[in-house]
Amino acid sequence: MSAPGDRLRIHTGDITRLAVDAIVNAANSSLLGGGGVDGAIHRAAGPELLAECRTLNGCKTGDAKLTKGYRLPARYVIHTVGPVWQGGGKGEAELLASCYRRSLEIASAHDCRTIAFPAISTGIYGYPKDKATGIAVGSVSDFLSRNAIPETVIFCCFDEQTAELYREAVAAVGGV
Ligand code: ADP
Repeated sequence: MSAPGDRLRIHTGDITRLAVDAIVNAANSSLLGGGGVDGAIHRAAGPELLAECRTLNGCKTGDAKLTKGYRLPARYVIHTVGPVWQGGGKGEAELLASCYRRSLEIASAHDCRTIAFPAISTGIYGYPKDKATGIAVGSVSDFLSRNAIPETVIFCCFDEQTAELYREAVAAVGGV
């Protein structure tokens, strides 16, 4: 197994375009759609995605649930619910780390070799981007150091400033 840092990639662009085994959705606890990346994923996947999400009975903050990808190039969508930033004293860091870990556990259970994450909680949910990036890279590299699958994890950044934060954090764990 290669070093965890060698299995991390950074991509700048729209996550709905990525032909990977699974993309992760930063959903809300209803799983019934929303704005930001959630809205983009539902638009690109088509109405069958919402129909499957309706059968899941929502999702708790820090947990994740899997659906098919429908019209997306990705085979699966893993829906996770990030914490709303409330100043940092409400367990936000643990919950955000749990989103990454649970998504990777589910990806591994479905034999996903490649998975792409958006910057969970850093949009409408207001998590400070630098703190969220450290948690994302830390929890993903910790998982990869203990598991062979997924082989490759892509951090999909919607803008160049976010990508720069990820480049610094990934370099700190010896990757890219
Ligand atoms: P949250 O409610 O978890 O904060 P958002 O969707 O508002 O979720 O934002 C999460 C991150 O996803 C933000 O950094 C935002 O810039 C980014 N984002 C929005 N649309 C896309 C997209 N199509 N592909 C990748 N990232 C996206």
